Amino acid sequence: MTEHQVVIAGGGPTGMMLAAELTLAGTDVAIVERRASQDLDGSRAGGLQSRTIEVFDQRGIADRFLSEGQVAQVQSFGGIPLDISDFPTRYNHGLGLWQNHIERILAGWVGELDVPIHRGREVTGSTQDDTGVDVELSDGQWWRAQYLVGCDGGRSLTRKAAGIDFPGWDPSTSSLIAEVEMAEEPELGIRRDALGTHGIGKVEYEIRDGEIVYGEGGPVRVGLTEAHLGRTSEPTLRDLSEALVAVYGTDYGLRTATWVSRFTDMTRQAASYRKGRVLLAGDAAHVHYPVGGHGLNIGVQDAMNLGWKLAQVVNGRSPEGLLDTYHAERHPVAARVLQTTMAQTALLRPDDRIEALRETVSELLSMDEPRKRFAAMMSGLDIHYDLGEGHPLLGRRVPDLDLDTPDGPRRVFTLLHDARPVLLNLGEPGGFDMTPWADRVEVVDASCSGTWELPVLGAVAAPTAVLIRPDGHVAWAGEPADPALPDALTSWFGPPAAAWRTDISRPIG
Ligand SMILES: Cc1cc2nc3c(=O)[nH]c(=O)nc-3n(C[C@H](O)[C@H](O)[C@H](O)COP(=O)(O)OP(=O)(O)OC[C@H]3O[C@@H](n4cnc5c(N)ncnc54)[C@H](O)[C@@H]3O)c2cc1C
Repeated sequence: MTEHQVVIAGGGPTGMMLAAELTLAGTDVAIVERRASQDLDGSRAGGLQSRTIEVFDQRGIADRFLSEGQVAQVQSFGGIPLDISDFPTRYNHGLGLWQNHIERILAGWVGELDVPIHRGREVTGSTQDDTGVDVELSDGQWWRAQYLVGCDGGRSLTRKAAGIDFPGWDPSTSSLIAEVEMAEEPELGIRRDALGTHGIGKVEYEIRDGEIVYGEGGPVRVGLTEAHLGRTSEPTLRDLSEALVAVYGTDYGLRTATWVSRFTDMTRQAASYRKGRVLLAGDAAHVHYPVGGHGLNIGVQDAMNLGWKLAQVVNGRSPEGLLDTYHAERHPVAARVLQTTMAQTALLRPDDRIEALRETVSELLSMDEPRKRFAAMMSGLDIHYDLGEGHPLLGRRVPDLDLDTPDGPRRVFTLLHDARPVLLNLGEPGGFDMTPWADRVEVVDASCSGTWELPVLGAVAAPTAVLIRPDGHVAWAGEPADPALPDALTSWFGPPAAAWRTDISRPIG
């Protein structure tokens, strides 16, 4: 029987990110992916939010995405633009890049890390016991894993097989999306009418001075709100033609479609992100309307939160309870996204009163304080895990400040490239005995003249030392003599070396 420490069902953006994180942390992981290749049959995410670019920067791969995409102010709330150019981040913008390119770049990275991806196979079932999970594959094989993670999308079989509830809201609106060729030049841009919001654009575009400039000719991307809800059959070219005529009065000589797909605003979230040895991440854990462009982004960030924790548990360094912090931290993040997408869906409804509400919200968001709060929320930069009282950095993303270190100038994010925890000491070197954690936590002595500034909160007191988790969130900040530091090290990265050898029975893998 094939055995892995972790099996991941689904090699979309979430599954690939998680596999990379586990591999960087020295875990034996394999992905099972239904698709025969990484090609996407249909368009999905159109880009990356600021925090996701930061997350990729923490692993040294942000440039791969930036070099292919279009830097732009992409955030909005219910179609109301939100500028983040004054935010304290190196990426005070988003990135326009279609999901097929994002997946290709991620697959390239995962390939460099030698993660095995078993393509053209499906996970068809799973059963767990006290020591592991038996995973059934579509070719009849059974694999054994210590943990199974369902990154298998909104219809997740992993979630269903584990019996995890997926409560939420049924759809209230349905849309068609397609990539087509047309004989005539269509009306490009957004149109709002009694049916809802519609848009036509080109696959090839550039952003110049904040404006989208479409290429000449080439394939056209169409997104249309449908007149009726509840169609479950695969959409056809004829459905698309009828929907175009209903909105624009013409189908612009619609010739062919590379693909046509349908999506709705169904909004659901897994009641639990973990059931024993089965975990969920990405769309398997939460689905919602794509307005605001969150799904792929929070999936990648789920993976960043879970990867190092799961690696520490399977490698015997931390007790299983560490995995419960994954649900505790990530469930509220997606719950908030579900709430704001539902609010935005309501704001996009075609109704004069809703239009009046939209104008009111737009006025509100033109004020600095509300704009900052909403923009930080929509770009993922304000995520704050509740780690209790303490320094304002606690539980928040560490800012990427420039440092002077004995090895020369570094950035905070470059310290995280190996996906290891870091104790950044900005005070006198050697203020704390790190020997018991030296095999797990890198200590970096540095000086820093920059201001510690957080989105929305503004400048905060410069800490003497910061304990940074591999996902870039601050686990502790203060003076090295603080008695809370050993507690934080133990809680997040396992007991001191002498203790874990006796406390934790499984050897390090
Ligand atoms: C029209 C549209 C526009 C969107 N726009 C945005 C946007 O602008 N920004 C954004 O962030 N998000 C956007 N999204 C959402 C985004 O596409 C998803 O949130 C993202 O793809 C989720 O990634 P994932 O890896 O969790 O799941 P998926 O991408 O669904 O990947 C799941 C993978 O699992 C595989 N799989 C499924 N079942 C099995 C099985 N049993 N065994 C093995 N493999 C299996 C599938 O083949 C797939 O590769 C949009 C979505 C839509 C529909």
